[in-house]
Amino acid sequence: MTASPTSEAGQPPPVVMRTPRKLDIDITARCNLRCRYCYFFNNPAVEYRDLPTDEWLKFFAELGALGVMDVTLAGGEPFIREDLTTLLEDLVRNRMRFSKVSSATECVSPSSPTVR
Ligand code: SF4
Repeated sequence: MTASPTSEAGQPPPVVMRTPRKLDIDITARCNLRCRYCYFFNNPAVEYRDLPTDEWLKFFAELGALGVMDVTLAGGEPFIREDLTTLLEDLVRNRMRFSKVSSATECVSPSSPTVR
């Protein structure tokens, strides 16, 4: 019989998750606005290139397999992505909750995906 691990104080070690529970993702580098205070545009640390749908879907499958539970989509403006419905459905299919950071100026456009 082996002894269970204990910390120096004699207490069991804390349970630590091996992967993040929650992620924030800049899902797009595009935005319909140009706010003066925006940290995103004219920022040399930002690469202004959107991943295609299939790369996001592969990434979401990895996140789901790792046990990530909660994803926040930001940008840029998430509603500007034409594939947003597909991306959101895939997050749910991979057992993740989601939220979005949006200016709410694109989600009322007739071309924007419906939010359920
Ligand atoms: S809505 Fe957000 S991402 Fe778009 S310009 Fe304004 S602060 Fe930047």
